Amino acid sequence: MRIPILQKAFAKAPSARAAGQKRALRIGIPRVLNQWSTHRFWTTLFVELGIGRRDIVYSSETSEAQQLKFGKGRGAVDCCYPVKCMIGHYGELLDGLKRPIDILFSPIILTVPSFLCGNVRENMACPRVIAGPESTRAGFQREKDTFAEKGVTYVSPSVSLAEPALAARQLFNAFKGILDGLTPAEMQRAVDRAYGALHEFDSEMRDQSLEVLTSCASGNRPCILALGRPYHMDSGIGHAIENELQAFGYPILWGQYLPLHPEVLDWLYKDLIRAGRIRNPFDISDIWKTSHSANTNELLWAARYGSLMPWITCCIRFSSYECGMDQPTYSPVQAIAESLGTLFFVFQDLDETKPAGSVRIRVETIAYYLERKSPKIMQGKLAAFQDAPPGILLQNVPDTGTASQDPLPEPVQTGSLEIADTTNRQHPGAGS
Ligand code: SF4
Repeated sequence: MRIPILQKAFAKAPSARAAGQKRALRIGIPRVLNQWSTHRFWTTLFVELGIGRRDIVYSSETSEAQQLKFGKGRGAVDCCYPVKCMIGHYGELLDGLKRPIDILFSPIILTVPSFLCGNVRENMACPRVIAGPESTRAGFQREKDTFAEKGVTYVSPSVSLAEPALAARQLFNAFKGILDGLTPAEMQRAVDRAYGALHEFDSEMRDQSLEVLTSCASGNRPCILALGRPYHMDSGIGHAIENELQAFGYPILWGQYLPLHPEVLDWLYKDLIRAGRIRNPFDISDIWKTSHSANTNELLWAARYGSLMPWITCCIRFSSYECGMDQPTYSPVQAIAESLGTLFFVFQDLDETKPAGSVRIRVETIAYYLERKSPKIMQGKLAAFQDAPPGILLQNVPDTGTASQDPLPEPVQTGSLEIADTTNRQHPGAGS
């Protein structure tokens, strides 16, 4: 069972607003970076501001053809691959649409909404993500102003999306001279509804993840957790590797949309809370002290979730070429994910190269280990809990007895990655 968070769900139309001023404008939004986790906010915002749903246009997913056709000849200052690709998205919106746009909207998202807000130091976006719109804009104004030439207004406000009151003011200031008759109250109402829609979207995705987990628990079947940044869901950035794994019959969950249902969290984290290691299920202070980056924080949090959840028997880590933010996280994420015996594999330095053959071989290797090791991994992880799984997950899970009676999962070796021996059955983060 796949969670449809990719193409089908991207910016799906929210319900149109009931009344209010209609505005005959066409807006183009690059489908890049943190748009992958916030697109529902932006679509709803513009619908609520009176833009027709069909006049809110996203660029297509990243592809080689897109970059060649629309990005050629425009240099990107940045070296990391996901930011470099923004050039092709801008180019597509300016040159590749049948009906031209009036506005190219590319927000500089400073802070990212996160379910970890309040439990971490900050919710900043990656600095390269923040700089991305400006460095990309420069590529279109280096010799001449391409936006002006096309009659397109470039709108790129800084938006603190993790701070709703501030975000409403920032967005009002950005659009007050562009949208006729716009008032602070109208923007506030649109922003409130946009946050509501984003929340609703996230909840829907988490409900679907829960369905996957419940189905796995009921059938005692394994699933895979994808650990990456939101834009790794873009098939041109993450190369849809998770789809190949899914073809072997292993459902994929994304770390961004793991179930946060209280019964599940209580069960997963009870022992760690009892032991005084964490204050609540969203506390990552024991495993990630420098919790400033929202996406990095969620990555670490998801790694621990995956390490604990019995039916997640494998974590796949995605990382893009030249990612500075990921460098310090490689070892902790692997150590956490493997701490109860979960398999862990990495696809690192992803860029435009698509080594289909080697990906296929690695996917087959992963599937081989999943088939061979999953039963014992599930058994070992279940046995590490004092309590039985909650009813919300458990419909027909076999009785595993107590921890002391269960056989331990074997330590295994996969290529250069050693899969942890779970003999001491420490919870992730213990002893770090
Ligand atoms: S998280 Fe890494 S790959 Fe992504 S924009 Fe930042 S530096 Fe680049």
